[in-house]
Amino acid sequence: MTLEKYSLGIGDRFARQGKAQLRALLQAKALGANVVPVWNKSHREHTIIGTAPADVRAEADAAVAALAWTDAYYVDADHIGLKNVDLFLDASDFFTLDVADFTGQSASEHDIRGFVDRHRRYVGELSVPGIATGFAITAECVEVAARKYLLAVQEAGRIYRHVESAKGAGSFVTEVSMDETDQPQTPVELLFILSALAEEDLPAQTIAPKFTGRFNKGVDYVGDVAQFAKEFEEDVALLRFAIGEFGLPANLKLSVHSGSDKFSIYGAMNQAIRRHDAGLHLKTAGTTWLEELIGLALAGGDGLRIARDVYRSALDRFDELCGPYAAVIDIDPAGLPSPAEVAGWGGEEYAAALRHDQSCAAYNPSFRQLLHVGYKVAAELGVRYLDALAEFEGVIAANVTENILEQHVKPVFLG
Ligand SMILES: [Zn+2]
Repeated sequence: MTLEKYSLGIGDRFARQGKAQLRALLQAKALGANVVPVWNKSHREHTIIGTAPADVRAEADAAVAALAWTDAYYVDADHIGLKNVDLFLDASDFFTLDVADFTGQSASEHDIRGFVDRHRRYVGELSVPGIATGFAITAECVEVAARKYLLAVQEAGRIYRHVESAKGAGSFVTEVSMDETDQPQTPVELLFILSALAEEDLPAQTIAPKFTGRFNKGVDYVGDVAQFAKEFEEDVALLRFAIGEFGLPANLKLSVHSGSDKFSIYGAMNQAIRRHDAGLHLKTAGTTWLEELIGLALAGGDGLRIARDVYRSALDRFDELCGPYAAVIDIDPAGLPSPAEVAGWGGEEYAAALRHDQSCAAYNPSFRQLLHVGYKVAAELGVRYLDALAEFEGVIAANVTENILEQHVKPVFLG
């Protein structure tokens, strides 16, 4: 199973927007961008919403059948580890092995010594095709990378072999993610991570490093765009080099997590993949659920009432909802409107505050981020929420499709 060059991870909290999401990729295809869908959902999301991996599989299969999609599509067991991977074995054919918790912990001295010894030939000036300036690599660099990442790669190998023994080699796509850590990985560290993956015989087709800067959920990139552009392009070139050097899968590509709404770096990403003729997996951050809220607000009546109720409860439960996401949100409590104020808003005002349009004075990033992590509130509304999604499907679907196509696929993959 070989993942295509361009792919888009589309989270869908409530599993109702599969068709609307896929329609965006059908339209993209008509415009010349072949981007395959990967429906991803993590164990954390399943637990909070009360769904199971089989629900994602059912949603994906139904959307593909309804729209007569003939290209590949995947169901991603997102951010799994040995403790929960078994729940995903039947439904998934894409596994994102999350070993971030193992980074920074050291492998055995014996293994580190061996790794450093086997990589002595890289000490010195390493020039990589496609990158103007070479990398100065010292023996210490190799050892530091081994101490930070070798154990994590060994753990990825254990998870991979577990999935392989259950599903059979070659029957699924493997991604390795290290994005949920504090420290970004440098291109040189990435080089040694890739070598370690090859030594584990782990046929990773995508890798999600932690890039420089902040990738908050559902809002724009925060950081030095020029620095990001430089590192991203170096990573793209390094992957190409590592494929040949270490014998990794020829389609190995970068995966950008929390990739939705990172408007200020999409240009740099697009230029790098074009310049190097490279692939890309863009994993969005579950913001489809915010398009549901926008659609409900715009629908008015009961839809708008639900949108307001979700906000009021989310504000009441601020600490509980924000806690698990503390590292990936930046909410200014003073910037949050009171429930009384929101009660006075019409659908257009609610949508304008929530919609990620930085040119709009009414856009409120704190409001948006709080609602983004507030999906638990909607889940608890149960049938009231799901019935509203069905009742207002038309207006919601239009927002979901447009958001994916116009805000994401076009700038990233069409440029
Ligand atoms: Zn991630």
